Amino acid sequence: MLERTPRYLVPFHPKRVPHRFADVLVIGGGLAGLRAALAVPADQSVLVVTKGGLRQSNSNYAQGGIAGVIDPEDRFENHIEDTLSVGSGLCDPAVVELVVREAPERIGELIQWGTHFDQAAGGLALGREGGHSHHRIVHALGDATGKEVMRAVIDRACSLPNVETWENAFTLDLLTHEGRCRGALVWGRQHGRTLVWAKQTILCTGGTGQIYRETTNPEVATGDGLAIAWRAGVELRDMEFMQFHPTVLYIAGSSRSLITEAMRGEGARLVDRNGHQFMADYAPRGELAPRDVVSRAIVTQMERTHHPNVYLDLTHLDPEAVRARFPGIAATCAEFALDITRDWIPVRPGAHYMIGGATVDREGRTSLPGLWAAGECTSSGLHGANRLASNSLLEGLVFGAHAGAGAAREAAEWDDDFRALPLVNAAVDDSPELLDLADIRNSLKSLVWRSAGVRRQRDGMLEAADNIDRWCNYVLARQFTDTSGWELQNMLTVARIIIEAAQAREETRGVHYRTDFPETDDAHWKRRVSFRREG
Ligand SMILES: Cc1cc2nc3c(=O)[nH]c(=O)nc-3n(C[C@H](O)[C@H](O)[C@H](O)COP(=O)(O)OP(=O)(O)OC[C@H]3O[C@@H](n4cnc5c(N)ncnc54)[C@H](O)[C@@H]3O)c2cc1C
Repeated sequence: MLERTPRYLVPFHPKRVPHRFADVLVIGGGLAGLRAALAVPADQSVLVVTKGGLRQSNSNYAQGGIAGVIDPEDRFENHIEDTLSVGSGLCDPAVVELVVREAPERIGELIQWGTHFDQAAGGLALGREGGHSHHRIVHALGDATGKEVMRAVIDRACSLPNVETWENAFTLDLLTHEGRCRGALVWGRQHGRTLVWAKQTILCTGGTGQIYRETTNPEVATGDGLAIAWRAGVELRDMEFMQFHPTVLYIAGSSRSLITEAMRGEGARLVDRNGHQFMADYAPRGELAPRDVVSRAIVTQMERTHHPNVYLDLTHLDPEAVRARFPGIAATCAEFALDITRDWIPVRPGAHYMIGGATVDREGRTSLPGLWAAGECTSSGLHGANRLASNSLLEGLVFGAHAGAGAAREAAEWDDDFRALPLVNAAVDDSPELLDLADIRNSLKSLVWRSAGVRRQRDGMLEAADNIDRWCNYVLARQFTDTSGWELQNMLTVARIIIEAAQAREETRGVHYRTDFPETDDAHWKRRVSFRREG
């Protein structure tokens, strides 16, 4: 698998590129990355690099909120139990306990830094989502929690003199020397390829929804960090577990907005093109069945009715109440001439959250010395085979704080040394023919959606692996000069690993549904699968 992947995506020579030195380099400026940066003490320098603007991240789009035991009636044990139960036997109980117990402190910090969470009766308003046994989700601006949390955290990070951010700076690869991570090769429009030397590096590059044709994730979520880690020999784990959100707006020409589960909670029905309310055919809880069950039912019903989507029907509910409760979705649909109180809303599932990633320990250390990681690009053991709603922002906060503190502690033990290491990548591109990158990208997204989407089976994945290998043969060995080429190389790499992992797990567990192995097989598969580049 991926034999033709070169170690570095582009050539570089230390005599021909600018250099930059930092105590701690943070790759990614979402919630995990900024929380890591905020954990570094004022006497150490931090450089945060982000591929787009600071506002372009999955964190910024988070809707529902952050889970934490805050209500006196709730207990840590309840949140732990809920997380373990959704994780389908693969959570690391010690990690779950650690994260759940730290949640109130991490949410408290956000408030101290100026986050305005929604209030009720003089205290925090606490929401409840699927899989939670109590009200414990703090949220902001109604359903725009990520926007408000990121506003406060960005303000805080930007106010600190020791934290510098580079926006629109694409990290190409980690620099490794004698078995350690020594920083990263970063490309920016103004400074070109730059070698950033860091005493410690923290990877916080977020998710990879963009490798699927249908996704809730923004454009930046192309899984770069996973491919970067793979090329550097970092261990990846749980890569078969992609969580799908069942109801993503499906209108040609619109962005794929997530339609909150709260709509079904308020009584919205799922109907097919014939108006049949089909969920009762699949699950006793109907529309309120767990996310993975609803996603599978929708895909099956789309197939049965030969239609590209199903619909959310709110037409039987009080129009005033609907408009008041879902103003954002009403406005988005109105742009496409849909009145959600009178028309059905077309929806279908989309890739939402990547559970797998770089294996980290409880401090956020990866398998590569000098490299730490936090957030959606990691596999910490919190989620197991399925993620409990609103646990991922929390994971980013907890592991961001740990990784930042750990990296700073170790960086403090290193003396300043403003010299470049003798690292050179002299490879030259001998394949001058131009490629239609958009064509390959679209084909890849459709292929991954079909073969490693909500439902998977052996033959489909074998065929997909063959196709991707063929594309890899002529795309990975090339040298591109801009982000569209590098992203495609990363997407191919991640897609190939996901398919390998999904092929390997011959059972159904959590979000991983094999139509050819529909049962859970604890005897063989109650274990995690990891991958690492050989050599
Ligand atoms: C629509 C939506 C709603 C959600 N709602 C919730 C919710 O209510 N509660 C919850 O807990 N979770 C929710 N999630 C999931 C949650 O938002 C994410 O898991 C979490 O924000 C990930 O944070 P992160 O810091 O790891 O990554 P991100 O926030 O995605 O940040 C990644 C950062 O890495 C940078 N980056 C990526 N590649 C490169 C590169 N090559 N070079 C440089 N920088 C790079 C990006 O620019 C970005 O700054 C939601 C997700 C979506 C998409």
